[in-house]
Amino acid sequence: MWRRVVSLYPLLSPSKSSVLHRAKSGIASNEKTPFIVFVLGGPGSGKGTQCAKIVETFGFRHLSAGDLLRKEISSNNENGVMILDTIKEGKIVPSEVTVKLIQKEIESSDNYKFLIDGFPRSEENRIAFEKILGVEPNIVLFYDCPEDEMVRRVLSRNEGRVDDNVDTIKKRLKVFAALNLPVIKHYTVRGKVCKINAVGAVDEVFEQVRPIFTLMVK
Ligand code: UDP
Ligand code: MG
Repeated sequence: MWRRVVSLYPLLSPSKSSVLHRAKSGIASNEKTPFIVFVLGGPGSGKGTQCAKIVETFGFRHLSAGDLLRKEISSNNENGVMILDTIKEGKIVPSEVTVKLIQKEIESSDNYKFLIDGFPRSEENRIAFEKILGVEPNIVLFYDCPEDEMVRRVLSRNEGRVDDNVDTIKKRLKVFAALNLPVIKHYTVRGKVCKINAVGAVDEVFEQVRPIFTLMVK
């Protein structure tokens, strides 16, 4: 069985009704503690597409870190320009910015099951998340995909993204290998990683994921 790992962080003071507060206080048995899944994999490995299938089948709330950051850019918020420049370079936005966006979504959600897509992207991201939210993921899904396939998918997805071009993809792949793989390694050692072969039709890939959720998520 999966262990639910909920560490306590003394500085954490989420709103009384949030799942994080419930995780911390461990009150009333009929109240749900958060179930957190990190969804990792390189650019174009299919994280977003697979998250949509998981949401549809298992009723999770999908939080794409990249989408939350792009929303900051399009709503002209204070960090918008910095975020845009960082994304164009394929680099990683400072942890405090991303963690705050994710935290806000978790704390304001009625759901308690979260898919956190494309985060943490570095050990620094991971440590900041665990420290600020006071929780660890229950499961980490790693969509394993060869680089040439990822490049092919990103260049053909036509979503108008500033970072979906050959130059930025090369940088993102380097950043993925250097900074994101250590996060996957960290959770592999802790027995939390489910590695998924990301090559194949959407439904075929999803069939590898289905049994994990059927078993682990109540
Ligand atoms: N990004 C980031 N921190 C995150 C998630 C995304 O800095 O936690 C930035 C980073 O520059 C990344 C870009 O947003 O290259 C796009 O991320 P997204 O997850 O949307 O890309 P995908 O992997 O889905 O292609
Ligand atoms: Mg994505």
